[in-house]
Amino acid sequence: MIATENMDIKKIAQSKIGQVDFQNIQFGKVYSDHQFMADYVDGQWKNLKIEPYELLQISPASPALHYGISIFEGLKAYKHDNGDVFVFRPDKNIERLNKSAIRMCMPELPENIYFDALNTLLDIDRDWVPEVEGTSLYIRPFVFSNDDYIGIRPSQDFKFMIITCPVGAYYAKPVKVKIENHFVRAVEGGSGFCKTGCNYGPAIYPAKLAQEKGYDQLVWTDGKEHKYIEESGTMNVMFVIDGKLITPALGDTILAGITRDSVLTLARDWGYEVEERKVEVAEVIAAAKEGRLQEAFGAGTAATIAHIEMIGYEGTDYQLPAVEEREFSNKVLKTLDDIKLGKAEDKFNWLH
Ligand code: PMP
Repeated sequence: MIATENMDIKKIAQSKIGQVDFQNIQFGKVYSDHQFMADYVDGQWKNLKIEPYELLQISPASPALHYGISIFEGLKAYKHDNGDVFVFRPDKNIERLNKSAIRMCMPELPENIYFDALNTLLDIDRDWVPEVEGTSLYIRPFVFSNDDYIGIRPSQDFKFMIITCPVGAYYAKPVKVKIENHFVRAVEGGSGFCKTGCNYGPAIYPAKLAQEKGYDQLVWTDGKEHKYIEESGTMNVMFVIDGKLITPALGDTILAGITRDSVLTLARDWGYEVEERKVEVAEVIAAAKEGRLQEAFGAGTAATIAHIEMIGYEGTDYQLPAVEEREFSNKVLKTLDDIKLGKAEDKFNWLH
């Protein structure tokens, strides 16, 4: 175990793990025994500690509560057959957390604090990493303003925390998506590329409206013309059209997904033709009509790959080819699962 010298560790008296049905895990309902916390005070990270998972005390004036001064990450740990626990690409999450921090006027988090926190917390709660097929331990690092000041300005004090929860497969079923042509998630010059709370709260209402119409998720389009495809729910979106893997290029309106990067890396390694560019809604719909849209899927930590079975646009639903026939997305899903579980070569050193 690697522990930061000055980390205070207070363990739970009685673990809650006996109460968990690992065959039937509901996402986000049960949290592991411990949480990590650190404070940013007087321009320094201090008070590093691990303690039993419990409620927080926070000033009612905290800008985290009023102005969404909060950022977060999401990653997963997997247990291998020999009992060892591995996290998938955690270096990319701290990189992205720090990009979000800059955009939100928050201090960057030193990598050593992040990795010591992650390693020590996972070591203490390693029994919470489930072994049942399709399950994993979801890890949620986050930073929020801990100021006791209601004015709008860059905050001074912050808390960094990590909590974890065991999870089952997120989208077991292929999803029906609706291409959104009214609401927007992000605009150029905005904060869409960050994982800040501010991007997620307002996205719930349009998604709820789509769910009332029978769709599982939205496909977001650009905020100016609704002409270009951006992301799908909280996943990056990819298409296989005429044998090519096509995905929207990154910019300040799209979150740079770590799954997205992993999928593109594997595709290029396998010799697939990959295009990262603007993707017009019209192009995808035309391909669907003409039977050239072979595959469509979301890519993200929650589901890894969520096959899209149907796309709704302007009142018409387009059915996509059967999931069993999809060569690329099935292969990439299997390979990523195998790498995460230690069953395929970790050629790119993604496991930590
Ligand atoms: N887009 C958005 C908006 C997201 O919230 C996420 C989930 N983090 C993703 C894409 C996928 O990113 P990742 O593969 O890193 O989970």
